This record gives sequence, structure tokens and C-alpha cells, in this order.
Amino acid sequence: MPELPEVETVRAQLEPVLTGRRFVRVEINDSRLVRPYEPAEVAAELEGERVAAVERRGKYVIVRFDSDRVLLIHLRMTGSLRHSRTGLREDPHRRAVVRLDDGSDVAYRDVRRFGTWLVLEPGALAPYLATRLGDEPLDALFTAARLGERLAKRRAPIKAALLDQRTLAGLGNIYVDEALWRARIHPLRPAESIDRVELRRLHKAIRAALEAGIARQGSTLRDYALPDGSSGSMQNEFKVYGRGGEPCDRCGTPIAKTKVGGRGTWFCPTCQPESGQASASASSRPSRSRRQSSV
Ligand SMILES: [Zn+2]
Repeated sequence: MPELPEVETVRAQLEPVLTGRRFVRVEINDSRLVRPYEPAEVAAELEGERVAAVERRGKYVIVRFDSDRVLLIHLRMTGSLRHSRTGLREDPHRRAVVRLDDGSDVAYRDVRRFGTWLVLEPGALAPYLATRLGDEPLDALFTAARLGERLAKRRAPIKAALLDQRTLAGLGNIYVDEALWRARIHPLRPAESIDRVELRRLHKAIRAALEAGIARQGSTLRDYALPDGSSGSMQNEFKVYGRGGEPCDRCGTPIAKTKVGGRGTWFCPTCQPESGQASASASSRPSRSRRQSSV
């Protein structure tokens, strides 16, 4: 599933081709994409709208129109957007096409059909997102202290807490595993047991993992493709995700695989001990960090 770095890469590529363009014709040929609304009705609402900006929040692409209405797109498992100036090839998995006023097309493809398009009236976006998403992890307002507030009194495993979009927006299975490895925190540690030293490490690690992903245009697994048809290369840089049995980059221990909340989870058993801080973290002044016992 595309996560923050993949969606941000999609947004960055769509921005120059969509901004200032008008939607002249919209075809939606999958009722699941826009349910409970009628595809023809949603298409008619979008025709004539001119794009003012292309933004992102969490894993949502936000196409903002001059009218202040928005088209909110979630790619879910296998959705992708493709921009073409030369016409579209046959594709049985194409669910929608937008013809722009410069004659080019933006096509939406989705094999598993979990993606969604939602048109929101002016003023409706903020309340819609407020109930669904926590802080943006790359935003200046997101601090280690904020992260601590979101994790406090939560007994869920740290991995599950970070996958919850209301804790932080945009993280998924890949970047949570990568961030926890960078922070040297076991994925099953109770969220509330993460101490202040670890919180600072985790805050830094989340940002570093996401920024690494954006710098490589996301990770290409299965159906992810960029609007210009290219693909990302972050999958070649994973530290733990999908690397079961391979040596840890930091200590050489074979990467282990487990499940957390039903999700495949990779970690280093040496760098990320379940009982707490690894000895490798001695340099981060453990004597000044108050350890809390796991419940
Ligand atoms: Zn290791």
C-alpha cells in the first residue's frame, strides 16, 4: 500500500501537470470508487472544475479547485494515477479518466478496487480529516513531545499505535518497521513504555525513514507506479522490511520476522530487544532516562 513517501511523490508529479488545468471530461466506470454516490453524478460535478493546487495529507491526495471544492483521493492498496499526453492504452483495471483542457489525460488504475474518490464541498475537508488523521510527521509542529502525548497510556504495541492514522498520518507497514529499526525499538513494546530518550530517537527515526523514502521516489512493490510511468527505488534501501534472514546493517544479526496485529513485521532481535533498550544505546545516557516497566 502506498504510504506517505509514495503519496507525496505522486502529489509532486501531479502538481505541475494539474495546477491551472480544467477538468473538461470525467469518466468514472467503477461504482466502488465513489460509493455511495453515483459515478455519473460525481463525474458531472467534477467537469468544469479548475485545479488551484495539489496537496497531500497523510496518505490522501487533495486536488483543490478554484471553487474551493476538493477531490480527495485515497489510493489504498493498489491505486495509481498516470498522466498521458499521447492517449491511453487499453487497461482492464482503469477505473476513471480525467481529460484536461490541454488535451492530456489523467487515468486512475486500481487492480483491487479499494481506492476512493470523494468530492467535498468548500469547508468540508478540514472536519473530514480532523477525525481521521493525527499530526503530519514531517510538519514542524510534530515534535518528540507531541509524539509522547499521542502514545501515552496506550498499551497497544508501538507498531500498532504508529499504524493508527490518528496517532500520526501517513505511516504504514513499511515505514513503521524501518523507523522502529532506526530507533532501535522492538515493534511489540507497549506504546506507553517508550521513554523520553527513546521518544526522541523515534521522532528522528520516523522523519529520517520517510525522508529517505521521498528522496528515492517511494518504494516500488507490486502496483505502485508514478504518474509519469517511472517507479521508485526505496525498496533497494530497506533496512528490515521484507529482509527476513538477511544480516542487519548495524550488527550483522539475521533480521527476524514476526506478526503484529496480523501484519508481517521485520526487526533486528539484537538492535531491537523486546525487553527495552539495546546495549548499543549506552551512548544516549541511559542513566538519565527513567525506565518504565512494561505492563
Ligand atoms: Zn542489528
